[in-house]
Amino acid sequence: MSTPDCLFCKIVAKAIPAKIVLENDHVLAFEDIRPMAPTHALVIPKKHIVGIHDATPEDAAVLGQVLLAARDAAEKLGLGEGGYRLVINQGDDAGQSVLHLHCHVLGGRPMAWPPG
Ligand code: AMP
Ligand code: ZN
Repeated sequence: MSTPDCLFCKIVAKAIPAKIVLENDHVLAFEDIRPMAPTHALVIPKKHIVGIHDATPEDAAVLGQVLLAARDAAEKLGLGEGGYRLVINQGDDAGQSVLHLHCHVLGGRPMAWPPG
């Protein structure tokens, strides 16, 4: 269920290196290559889903896995006490640049609200 030209599918396949934070059968968490906060990781389903807008009811379990892995990655990266922000960018207006669903885990500094 991978897409050959997809950057994040290549990371899942270990064809492109990444600093892996955690991994299980369903999801992979790795450090963002261009961090926007002192701690910045991405959590992706191993299944290629373009974005949250393309997810189907059959994806409900893996979407839950993404959120739980984001929580676990945040804890592993030391953000459990101070807090963190989870972000899913969808489409052009949100600035989604990689068309494989990913949840950003951001922390290590106070986060502004509303977001930009
Ligand atoms: P978005 O703009 O929401 O689509 O987020 C895509 C994220 O992927 C950005 O934060 C990029 O810095 C990150 N990114 C792009 N290429 C890589 C890579 N090879 N390894 C890790 N993170 C990446
Ligand atoms: Zn993909």
